Amino acid sequence: MSNRDNSIYKEANSRGLKTVSYSQFNLFSSCPYSWYKQYVEKIRIDSKGIDMLFGSAFHDTFQTYLQIYFTKTIREADALDLNKILNENMLKRFKEMAKDGDTSFTTKDELSSYFLDGVDILAYLKRNKQKYFDKSKYELVGTEVPLLVPIDEGINKLAIVSFLDVVLKEKSGPNHLIIDLKTSYMGWKKNKKNDFITKSQLLFYKKYYAKLFNISEKNITTKFFVVKRKVFINESMTFKPGRVQQIEPASGTTTMKKFDELFGKFLKIFDENGQIKSGLIFNKASSKKACTYCNYKNTIHCDRKNK
Ligand code: SF4
Repeated sequence: MSNRDNSIYKEANSRGLKTVSYSQFNLFSSCPYSWYKQYVEKIRIDSKGIDMLFGSAFHDTFQTYLQIYFTKTIREADALDLNKILNENMLKRFKEMAKDGDTSFTTKDELSSYFLDGVDILAYLKRNKQKYFDKSKYELVGTEVPLLVPIDEGINKLAIVSFLDVVLKEKSGPNHLIIDLKTSYMGWKKNKKNDFITKSQLLFYKKYYAKLFNISEKNITTKFFVVKRKVFINESMTFKPGRVQQIEPASGTTTMKKFDELFGKFLKIFDENGQIKSGLIFNKASSKKACTYCNYKNTIHCDRKNK
């Protein structure tokens, strides 16, 4: 995301810290072999596609709106030309993805169609801002809030690094709210909502935000804020479905313990200097489902047959 301050990596480097992120944990959980390819062998095959392009452009645009909304007046936020900002952000992402001259990842029609969806989503969010972002109750801690937190659990030279999309704090209470923005086609279905590794993103944020700022985990709420590009509406509906799905997975003691166990398994591959232990075997994904969107699929980097 362009709103991101990448100086955190320099800081980690200057402190002699290796870093791991939720994305690494997520990748390792679905296919240890692909994690090894990407983060140890450093074989990077950039992901490109309209969903990624739109997702990051939307993030940047909406975060810009929220910054003004919370730190200045609602009038000033509403005066922003969000459609123009979204258009510029999409163009910027397009240029980044097409810098090697390959534009086959999208088409002009697809870009226009996603842009118009973005216009509808932003209009909806502007109309419903008070419902989702109660300015009288919350103040903005930040957008793209960087986290660099050493993991002390026997691993001295390893730290987690993350950027939190939106963090709010109660004005008259100790509670913090961490919001992760997602873009989707028509919202998340049950299997996505129930997937533990997906939910772990918020548990990861909760644990390390609490640790960095010395806040009790009990005072941190987390949620996915999923915006839908399309909503299903038919004439007979008396209630018009909204464009936002808010998902607050459980994050009590039992869930956090389960997360610690899973994340702990990932951390076991590092030694006390944050280096990968020698002699480990990094298996390929146990389910072919994990291969669906893998960049190594059908390349010289993975010989797994995917039909
Ligand atoms: S194609 Fe499948 S098995 Fe091969 S690296 Fe990707 S996820 Fe792993």
